[in-house]
Amino acid sequence: MTTISCAGFDHPYEIIIESGCFARVAHTALPLVSGRRVAVVTDSNVAGLYAGGLLAGLEAAGFQTHLFVFPAGEQSKTLDTIGQLYRFLSENGLTRSDLLCALGGGVTGDMTGFASATYLRGIPYVQIPTTLLSQVDSSVGGKTGVDTPFGKNLVGAFHNPVAVLIDPELLTTLPRVFFEDGLGEVIKYAAIRDAAMEQLLLERPHGEALEALIARCVAIKRDVVEADPLDTGLRGILNFGHTLGHAEEKLSNFSGYTHGQAVAAGMVAAAAIGERLGVTEAGTRAQLVRLLERHNLPTALTHSADELFEAALHDKKNLSGSLSLILLRRFGEAVIHPIPVEDFHSLLRQCL
Ligand code: NAD
Ligand code: MG
Repeated sequence: MTTISCAGFDHPYEIIIESGCFARVAHTALPLVSGRRVAVVTDSNVAGLYAGGLLAGLEAAGFQTHLFVFPAGEQSKTLDTIGQLYRFLSENGLTRSDLLCALGGGVTGDMTGFASATYLRGIPYVQIPTTLLSQVDSSVGGKTGVDTPFGKNLVGAFHNPVAVLIDPELLTTLPRVFFEDGLGEVIKYAAIRDAAMEQLLLERPHGEALEALIARCVAIKRDVVEADPLDTGLRGILNFGHTLGHAEEKLSNFSGYTHGQAVAAGMVAAAAIGERLGVTEAGTRAQLVRLLERHNLPTALTHSADELFEAALHDKKNLSGSLSLILLRRFGEAVIHPIPVEDFHSLLRQCL
């Protein structure tokens, strides 16, 4: 078991990483709330797998439980679903002393967190992430929100959970494609902060190696978000591979590479750019490619340099005139590297 404390800009909270901790959610939640009601929010896939066990445990501990299930998938991450959730919470009499439980992947976590930030101007929530991506990334750091027709994650709030309970055993039911998707982000953490993680990635991680990897990713994310809770500086390094990865996803209308696959290919392109600029140690790109290939992740973007440039410039994270590229000095160390927009364009043409 690993317990990682996060200071949080609003309140401190603990992140527990332990195989089997899902069975003790009620025990962990009990001291965190004064009320007796818990609303569990989950999607239509996760509900059948894990909601029954969670509700039974909470009820045995004396909580009155309510279950809100929405159709699985990113297309549910909307204000419309949030509206339905507000109605559900209100009809069931949830108050500010009660608790929300996000049981699911990043879609569930982002939406539950947003409802929790806004319903009654704030009610506590617990994250119980069930995908590799949500265990290593979205459940920590307090970013919550929804998609709109004009942009992904366009509306949201910073609002930290009161606890995060990560049980790697829940990943045994996760379809292979989603596991590999999360591995893209795991490899990103190794690339930006912790080269030694590569030893745990020599083969597909499971059991203790998987638990150790998750703990290391969470520790990195905690360190970065504690230093930059509201995403105005250092937190940018978590976007390594994302500028081009997002462009790739957008150009394929989010129906080509998964997010983790797009980030994988984006990291390789960023490593090539870094080597060309002399910022990144020679051989880093090749090291990254070997690691990604071992885990069935793609290493090339599928669109042209011109198309990717256009799409990347519309990315909300980029400022006009120059943009902040996240590059590696070497595998295990990221730097924020500002470059003029025109240079980025010609580098893309040279490196892709
Ligand atoms: P997701 O929540 O849609 O889950 C992926 C799929 O796996 C879904 O079909 C889900 O039903 C299924 N599933 C989940 N757990 C399962 C399990 N244990 N067994 C079987 N099936 C399971 O997507 P995701 O990949 O977890 O998260 C993506 C979302 O996270 C995006 O909306 C993204 O914007 C967001 N995100 C947020 C942050 C943040 O900091 N808040 C960071 C990264 C990503
Ligand atoms: Mg990401």
